[in-house]
Amino acid sequence: MSKTYTTTGIVLKRRDYQENDRLFCLYTKDYGKIDILAKGTKKIASKLNSYMEPFYLVKLMIAKGKVFDKLANCDIIKTYDNLRNDQTLLGFGLINYLAEGTDGLISGQTMKADKFNLLAEVLDVLEREIIYDLEDKKDRLSFIANIYFVKLLVLLGCQPEIQRCVMCHKGILLPQNVFDFVKGGLVCEKCKKICLIEDYIMVSDTVIKLLQLAKEKPLDFFVTLSVHSNELKEFNQVSEKLIMVNLEKPLKTFEFLEQI
Ligand SMILES: [Zn+2]
Repeated sequence: MSKTYTTTGIVLKRRDYQENDRLFCLYTKDYGKIDILAKGTKKIASKLNSYMEPFYLVKLMIAKGKVFDKLANCDIIKTYDNLRNDQTLLGFGLINYLAEGTDGLISGQTMKADKFNLLAEVLDVLEREIIYDLEDKKDRLSFIANIYFVKLLVLLGCQPEIQRCVMCHKGILLPQNVFDFVKGGLVCEKCKKICLIEDYIMVSDTVIKLLQLAKEKPLDFFVTLSVHSNELKEFNQVSEKLIMVNLEKPLKTFEFLEQI
């Protein structure tokens, strides 16, 4: 077997390791989520130091190691500077929201190219849109990020059940349904009356349609889709709760995004 291999990846996070080294968690096209040890990257003189910022898209050469595989070489493909340098910090908030949620939802090396491509796609869309003065900019761009997360949940086989009642399995009749976060889907009017649901939220007809569209349409479709401000907020609230339930913990970046 070859001692080195190459792949393309997105840096999700980094942490110091021993005195001068760093461990990078990357989301790669060919090998899923992996940890790579970069020797000496804390030293200012290190060439690789500036190549491995969080959320850089990079081409990597990796050497197999006993405990950790090691970074042998790295070329930057994209740095997403519009998001990174956005004065309002919304871009920074979105990058971190995507990184924390993606890292939490993906466990081990289960990734395949479709999920990697989806992350690269949402970064491209947000990088393009962040420079415009959009109406409801924060809600609109958070909406795009949340559409990404619904798509990711679908690819991971954790999609919300929105076509059949999670209790009686009969087809759902809109409107006025409640979303049961423990069971991961909609509960019909009839079951709602007879069951005690602990963790639920009322969801509008529009949000259910948006969840359905998220499964079917590409991310770009949602950039120009006309959605009322209140419905953007409602969709974001439902999606954030969906991510939280699947992660089994709250995301730190929710709060940061709220405060921007
Ligand atoms: Zn039912």
